[in-house]
Amino acid sequence: MPQVRLDVCLLEMSQNAVALIYAACRQCYSEKFAGDIYSEAGINPEKEEEFIRKVVSSGHESPLEHVKFTFAVQGVSRALTHQLVRHRVASYSQQSQRYVKEKQFDYIIPPSFERNPESKKEFEKMMQEIQVGYDKMLGYLSQAGITGEAANQDARFVLPQAAETKIVITMNCRELMHFFKHRCCARAQWEIRQLSMKMLDICKEKLPSVFMGAGAKCESLGYCPETEKFSCGRYLVKEKIIKTK
Ligand SMILES: Cc1cc2nc3c(=O)[nH]c(=O)nc-3n(C[C@H](O)[C@H](O)[C@H](O)COP(=O)(O)OP(=O)(O)OC[C@H]3O[C@@H](n4cnc5c(N)ncnc54)[C@H](O)[C@@H]3O)c2cc1C
Repeated sequence: MPQVRLDVCLLEMSQNAVALIYAACRQCYSEKFAGDIYSEAGINPEKEEEFIRKVVSSGHESPLEHVKFTFAVQGVSRALTHQLVRHRVASYSQQSQRYVKEKQFDYIIPPSFERNPESKKEFEKMMQEIQVGYDKMLGYLSQAGITGEAANQDARFVLPQAAETKIVITMNCRELMHFFKHRCCARAQWEIRQLSMKMLDICKEKLPSVFMGAGAKCESLGYCPETEKFSCGRYLVKEKIIKTK
C-alpha cells in the first residue's frame, strides 16, 4: 500500500503522421487527390512540416483530427481522472474498482502534504485506516453472501479520491492541443498539469511541426486570457494589452 508517482507511456500514435496531416491539409487547397498527395509525401519533409506549421498557426485545425496518440497512464489519483474524463472528445479505458479488488490500494500524496512530515504521516495513517475500513466492509458483505464484483462495487464507496488508478487515453491532435491549452496552464490543478506537461513533452518529441508551439493558452495567444487575480504573471493579461494599445 505505498505512495506512487505519475508514469506516462506512449502506446501508439498514427503511422506517417506528417504525411497524413499534410495530405489532409493539401486536399483543402489542391486539385490533386489526397490519396496521391499522401503517396508522394516524404519527398520533401521540411516543406511538408513547414506547411503544417503554417496551417496550425492559422487556426485551421480540422486536419489535425486525423492523427491520434494513445497513452497509458498510471500513478494518478481518481481526483485526476475525474477531471480528465470531462474532456469528451477522447477515448478512455480505466481500471475498474468493481473488477479489480483493492487488496492494498496505492495512493497519491499531494506535494503540500508531502512537504510537511507531520501531515504526510497523518495522511498515510488515514490511508491505512481506509484500507482497514474497506476490508471490514468486504467482510460484512461476505457474511451476507455478497462476494466478487458485487462486493467490490459497494466496498469502493469508502475509498478516497487519492486512490491510485490506471487509464488508457486516446486523443487526436486537435483535442490534445485543446487539452494542453487548459491543463498546462499554471491555474490548472497540479496533478492534471503534471500529466499534461508529460504528454506535451512526448507530443513535441514525436510531432514537433504540430506541437512545438503548443501548451497553455498564453503560449499561442501571447497574452493571458485570465483576469489579473487569476493570472500567473508570465504574460500580460488581455485588459492590459488592450489598454496599452
Ligand atoms: C482551471 C479549470 C477549472 C475548472 N473548474 C471546474 C469546476 O469548478 N467545475 C466543473 O464542473 N468543471 C470545471 N472545469 C472543467 C471545464 O469546465 C471543462 O468541463 C473541461 O475543461 C473540459 O473542457 P471542454 O469541455 O472544453 O473539453 P472537451 O470536452 O474536450 O471539448 C472540446 C471542445 O469541443 C467542443 N464541445 C465538446 N462538447 C460540446 C458540446 N456538448 N456542446 C458544444 N461544444 C462542445 C467545445 O468547443 C469544447 O471546448 C475546469 C477546468 C479548468 C481547466
